[in-house]
Amino acid sequence: MYSDFQKHLQTELQSIEEAGLYKNERIITSPQQAAIRVNTGQEVLNFCANNYLGLSNNKELIEAAKKALDSHGYGMSSVRFICGTGDLHKELEAKISEFFGTEDTILYASCFDANGGLFEPLLDAQDAIISDSLNHASIIDGVRLCKAQRYRYANADMEELEECLKKAQAQRHRLIVTDGVFSMDGNVVPLDKVYELANKYNAMIVVDESHSAGVVGRTGRGTTELFNLFGKIEIITGTLGKAFGGAIGGFTTGRREIIDMLRQRSRPYLFSNSIPPMIAAAGIKAFEIISETNELQDKLHANTNYFMAKMQAAGFDIKPTQSAICAVMLYDAKLSQEMAAKLLDKGIYVTGFYYPVVPKGEARIRVQLSAGHEITQLDQCVVAFTEIGRELGVIS
Ligand SMILES: *Cc1c(COP(=O)(O)O)cnc(C)c1O
Repeated sequence: MYSDFQKHLQTELQSIEEAGLYKNERIITSPQQAAIRVNTGQEVLNFCANNYLGLSNNKELIEAAKKALDSHGYGMSSVRFICGTGDLHKELEAKISEFFGTEDTILYASCFDANGGLFEPLLDAQDAIISDSLNHASIIDGVRLCKAQRYRYANADMEELEECLKKAQAQRHRLIVTDGVFSMDGNVVPLDKVYELANKYNAMIVVDESHSAGVVGRTGRGTTELFNLFGKIEIITGTLGKAFGGAIGGFTTGRREIIDMLRQRSRPYLFSNSIPPMIAAAGIKAFEIISETNELQDKLHANTNYFMAKMQAAGFDIKPTQSAICAVMLYDAKLSQEMAAKLLDKGIYVTGFYYPVVPKGEARIRVQLSAGHEITQLDQCVVAFTEIGRELGVIS
C-alpha cells in the first residue's frame, strides 16, 4: 500500500536536501541557558534561543512547577469547559491581564493555537482582516480558517496599510493584525502609526507580542508600552514559550467580550487539552518576577545595546532594531551557512537564515540576546564573529 507514496516522499525529501533546505536538529543535553552542552560533548554559548529573560532554567520557576506537581498533580485530562479549569489557570489569566493592562485573558496550549483560533469565531464574510506580509505562520493559518475578506500590506508599509483600509470600508468590521516584533529583521511594528490609521478608518488591532512581550518597552510590556498605547489595543496574543520561561502555552488577552466569545467558540480552546497546572504555576511566577522588579528587562536591554554597539564597531552590517534580535547581514546564502558553522566550531551557537525564510539575497545570521548572557559571554561572541568575519572577508 505504502510503496508508491514512499517513493513520492523519498523524491520530495531528496529535493529538499538538494536545495540545501533540509533541517537537521542539534541535540542538547543540558538545560536551556546561556552555556549549553550538545550531544557531541561540545559546550557552546547559545545565541539562538528565545530565552530573552533567561527564565528557561530559573530556579524559582522550577520550584513553582515542582510545588504545583505536588499540590495539583500532573495533567488535567480535559479541555477547559468540561473539567479542565483549575485555580492556577484562572490565576495565570488574571496575571496576564494585569501585566498587559487588559480586561480578560484566555489561555491556549500555544500561541500557534491562540492565533489559529482567533479570527474564525469573531469575524465572517462581511468583515475584513488586514494583515502584514511578514506575519507569523500561525496568523496566516488563522486567517485562512476565517471567511473574512483578506487584505495584505508589505511589511510595516503604512501607505499600503492605508490603501487596504480604504478598500476595506466596504466591509462591516475591520481588524488589522501584525506581529509586534518581526522575527527575521527584529524590527518593531510602528504601532503608533497603525493605531492612528485604525482610528481614522474605524478598525480594530491585533498585536502578536510573542517576540516583544518581556522584551520591548522599558518594563517589557511590549509594543503597547513602547508606543504609549498601554491598554488601548483591542487584542494581544502571545506565548509562554519565549521570554516567560520558554516551556509551552499561549494566550489571547484584550477586551472582555472578545475573550468571552473566544471561550464560547474558539476551536483550539474548546477541543484541545488544558495546560498542565505546573506550567500555569511557573507562568504565574514568571509574571510575578518581571512585575516585581525591572532587573531582567534592564539587563536584557543593556546586553542588547552593548552587543549591537560592539558588532557595529567591528564593522558588521547590523539591522537597526529595538528588539533583542540582531540580524547580522551577509546577503549570501552560502556564506551565512559557512559562517554559522565556523562560529559553532568556536563555541558560538547561532543560526544562518536564507531564502525562502528571508528574501533572496538577504541572507543573515540571527543573534538573539538574553538577560541570561554575561558581558564576558557577549565579548566571546563578538571576538568569534570578528575573527571569522575577517577570515571570510565579511569585515576588514
Ligand atoms: C513563536 C511565535 C508564535 C508561536 O508561539 P508558540 O507558543 O510556540 O506556538 C506565534 N507568533 C509569533 C509572532 C511567534 O514569534
